[in-house]
Amino acid sequence: RKSVIRITTGSQALDELLGGGIETLSITEAFGEFRSGKTQLAHTLCVSTQLPIHMHGGNGKVAYIDTEGTFRPDRIVPIAERFGMDANAVLDNIIYARAYTYEHQYNLLLGLAAKMAEEPFRLLIVDSVIALFRVDFSGRGELAERQQKLAQMLSRLTKIAEEFNVAVYMTNQVIADPGGGMFISDPKKPAGGHVLAHASTIRLMLRKGKGEQRVCKIFDAPNLPEAEAVFQITPGGIMD
Ligand code: ADP
Ligand code: MG
Repeated sequence: RKSVIRITTGSQALDELLGGGIETLSITEAFGEFRSGKTQLAHTLCVSTQLPIHMHGGNGKVAYIDTEGTFRPDRIVPIAERFGMDANAVLDNIIYARAYTYEHQYNLLLGLAAKMAEEPFRLLIVDSVIALFRVDFSGRGELAERQQKLAQMLSRLTKIAEEFNVAVYMTNQVIADPGGGMFISDPKKPAGGHVLAHASTIRLMLRKGKGEQRVCKIFDAPNLPEAEAVFQITPGGIMD
């Protein structure tokens, strides 16, 4: 029987909001506007996942699927130093792949599962989970097919999380929400509809605060209190 491991985000406030950090055996989704910190959180998790368990890490390797070309190995160096780790060793334990189509993204997951069966991984990042689907199924009348393929891919992610005791961290975009909903002044909502909402164990809404401050709110979790955490993006990664 596998037990949940909680991996620190680098911010105590954010960890507390999450009940200790991002969890293995589940899918954490982060959505928010451009520059809200989704990719920077991914970079910090790439490092913190490799910390020993007693330092709130996962003592494991990281797989990174990048659909937007925004992973920066250079960013890993100061983050590793901040945590007192050897940057080259940390980089060696990040298996990186760029995906160019939704099919490519899906096939990369199949390959990763084989790798995870052989080596101890604790984190799988997909940044962004939906961008390629929105490009590859942009035509009118393609939404149903897109949602079906998206569901297929998300079920792969769930399977990987459960089979290998891995935390999945995936990012999502926001789209206009003419219906308004809970965003009356700035009507936006996460992309991906019910299919994505259903797959995510926990949904985090990120937004910009003052300067380098960012605000994270748990979105749409009936069993959790309506709480927020404020964190900062720094050269050393996510911090309080
Ligand atoms: P998203 O993925 O949500 O579009 P990012 O995670 O890429 O957003 O966040 C981009 C922001 O991160 C930048 O606007 C900047 O404020 C901050 N940032 C990026 N690199 C650094 C750094 N080295 N030091 C401090 N802040 C940084
Ligand atoms: Mg990004």
